[in-house]
Amino acid sequence: MIPVNEPLIREREKEYVLECLQTGWISSAGKFIAEFESRWAEYCGMEYGVAMCNGTAALSAAVACIDLKPGDEVILPTFTIISCALAIVENGGTPVLVDSDPKTWTMDVAQVAEKITSRTRAIMPVHIYGHPVDMDPLIELAQQHDLLIIEDAAEAHGAEYKGKKCGGLGDISCFSFYANKIITTGEGGMALTRDPDLAERLRSERNLAFRKDRRFFHTKLGHNYRLTNVQAAIGLAQLERIEEHIAKKRWMARAYTERLQDIHQLQLPVEKSWAKNVYWMYGVVLAEDVPMDADDFALRLHAEGVDTRPFFLGMHEQPVFQERGLFIGERYPVAEFISRRGLYLPSGLTLTDGQVDQVAEAIRIVLQ
Ligand SMILES: *Cc1c(COP(=O)(O)O)cnc(C)c1O
Repeated sequence: MIPVNEPLIREREKEYVLECLQTGWISSAGKFIAEFESRWAEYCGMEYGVAMCNGTAALSAAVACIDLKPGDEVILPTFTIISCALAIVENGGTPVLVDSDPKTWTMDVAQVAEKITSRTRAIMPVHIYGHPVDMDPLIELAQQHDLLIIEDAAEAHGAEYKGKKCGGLGDISCFSFYANKIITTGEGGMALTRDPDLAERLRSERNLAFRKDRRFFHTKLGHNYRLTNVQAAIGLAQLERIEEHIAKKRWMARAYTERLQDIHQLQLPVEKSWAKNVYWMYGVVLAEDVPMDADDFALRLHAEGVDTRPFFLGMHEQPVFQERGLFIGERYPVAEFISRRGLYLPSGLTLTDGQVDQVAEAIRIVLQ
């Protein structure tokens, strides 16, 4: 079976982790945390990094910083992971959805303006599967309406929008370093910002809402979102090799596209002229006239020895939100189409040319 993903762990990770063990710095203090935070912030063109225990926590802490009042709204794509909507609901806000662009699968920014109301406080673009969101129209809307931009760049480490790194474009950006992300800490995440006050706030959100002025004195309920020095050690070693990881993903995309582009039943990933796509995952979408859906396609590929993962299911189709009276009767045709007809192929950093051949061959067999 060709796995859908595998992390790439080398000697440097072991060396840094061993240093944590030998020096006893195994919890959330220690030099690797500060080093990982500042290097990642610098890499993305931001000032401050606040490491978190995962990407979901980073999003929750970021949304906590805007102090949503009941009824306050945050605009995000329906086609994303639940972490995004969860962060908004958990912080007392109302998620407001837009559909996806049919080519890039990221949020359709042309739909955002009509969703802005007097209650809108923020926009949360999500760079999907490594392709950046078209940010300029969002930045302009945010300036006009005094909104914050919280970028979810969990899938877009090193991706670029008009020459600038994803995760360096919003007021706060959030990352995951889960084992399948482009660089990993096993479990882990980070929030970045340029604003020293937001950075301080993020640190407080990470650490039980402790206050700087008076320890063990609390004016709000917080969480423990801390990352360990051991995880940061892995992250720092991974960061040293990030360009190699990105080059491998871009090689993978070229290799798949070369072999699949003549199959008209498949829609393949794109790279807009203003974008550098890092192809976190190589997604394919079955054309309308193919007489099977993505579940069926996945089963048949599995039988040919190819592991895949389904695309996201839109937030408006989630029972957990409908039960709360959210998104009732709302339709997002592009997201609905790609969630039923899309999946991603083996996209790991250890993928070989021979495996790409095998996957392409399996696809031809299944679609024949
Ligand atoms: C992976 C991911 C997250 C969540 O990160 P975790 O570390 O798994 O909590 C959030 N947003 C997006 C877009 C992701 O892909």
